[in-house]
Amino acid sequence: MNTTRDNLAIFGGPKTISTPFPHYNPIGAEEVEAARKVVESGVLSQFLGCWDPDFYGGPKVQEFERKCEAYFGVKHAVTVNSWTSGLIAAVGAVGIEPGDEVIVSPWTMSASATAILHWNAIPVFADIEPETFCLDPVSVEANITPYTKAIMAVDIFGHSANMDALMAIAARHGLKVISDTAQAPGALYHGKFAGTLADVGGFSLNYHKHIHTGEGGILVTNDNEIADRLRLIRNHAEAVVGGKGVSDLRNMVGYNFRLGEIECAIGIEQLKKLGGFVGSRQRAAARMTQGLSGLTGLRAPIVESNCTHVFYIYPLVLDVEALGVPRSRIAEALVAEGVMGLATAYQNLHLLPMYQHKIAYGSNGFPWSSSICRREVSYAKGICPVAESLQDKSYLGFAMCMHEMTDGHVDLIVKAFRKVWDNLPALFESAKAA
Ligand SMILES: *Cc1c(COP(=O)(O)O)cnc(C)c1O
Repeated sequence: MNTTRDNLAIFGGPKTISTPFPHYNPIGAEEVEAARKVVESGVLSQFLGCWDPDFYGGPKVQEFERKCEAYFGVKHAVTVNSWTSGLIAAVGAVGIEPGDEVIVSPWTMSASATAILHWNAIPVFADIEPETFCLDPVSVEANITPYTKAIMAVDIFGHSANMDALMAIAARHGLKVISDTAQAPGALYHGKFAGTLADVGGFSLNYHKHIHTGEGGILVTNDNEIADRLRLIRNHAEAVVGGKGVSDLRNMVGYNFRLGEIECAIGIEQLKKLGGFVGSRQRAAARMTQGLSGLTGLRAPIVESNCTHVFYIYPLVLDVEALGVPRSRIAEALVAEGVMGLATAYQNLHLLPMYQHKIAYGSNGFPWSSSICRREVSYAKGICPVAESLQDKSYLGFAMCMHEMTDGHVDLIVKAFRKVWDNLPALFESAKAA
């Protein structure tokens, strides 16, 4: 009888983690009190969709925006009812036109790319860096065509993209840069907040993010004109431009992307706590990295110099050749030990059915089939080898965002990993037999 083998929970041994960790919950008494006051006031939103002082929203919207400006060190913060709305507003505000190409990462949430399509522009997927999982500037440059107008840089998992390189490319080619920093609020890049280095950037306030208001988003920019256009797109631009005296009518198709007073009152309290939440994530991640060090074939998250990581996800990379055990088997063993929030895949957006079949608006392949799309854009498997290989073979993500992570919780995760790694030969044999 092989005692080592019997020890693993996947082979019937005792589980390392028997009690699920408490859910991450950043909402406290301050948020309850702030929301209560707004509810009692009866004014749950004070926006008007016409040229009027209330075009800019009510007192909590304004207060939250001014506080975000001070916190992130930007000239303008514009709240929106989701970060998906924020991304749509950003692409419109920087002046993207139908058929323009926008370079985006495939390793992101789907809205980073649909925000581009939304304006009948064409998402072009460039590959990512294996270390940061963010856009690879070399691949970005290789994907630039005469039709490229912008780069959508996604600060994925909590680490900034290589903004110096991306901004330099943008300057050389006359492109706009948008930062999707949904997962990295509070992350630093060379002393500045991620999201604030692009022409426009911002953060999600959805339930799963570091700080949340249920749903919501914050756009940030230092550009007065972009800020104005963001506010117009947020709030029925077409009905406001006349009264406001706006002469540039490009993309002045407006929406109701307005965030309410309750959410903004909660957001004000959440913003005060962001630094603390980020700090505790970073402490948990540092302890995890320390605990996992020395395990063969397992690469802990990389933090580039002069950057900080805020660990929405704690991304691991397996060297499956060195391990001799497929990723799926390792993940099964870890899950059996009680490790929660593990994922063996993230996103390869170019492989989604919509891009594979080029069917977005209507049934005739618009916008790709239309004359506004000036060249054949490929979404074939193979265009993003790094992102594809991570997805197919080597990526193992731990959703740090999902649970409260005390030292004790981190130590249990580490213990489960160490137990599985101590039993790799048994896993190897069982994988062979399967
Ligand atoms: C969460 C997220 C979004 C969308 O934000 P919502 O507020 O849910 O609309 C976009 N991009 C990335 C990278 C995200 O993680």
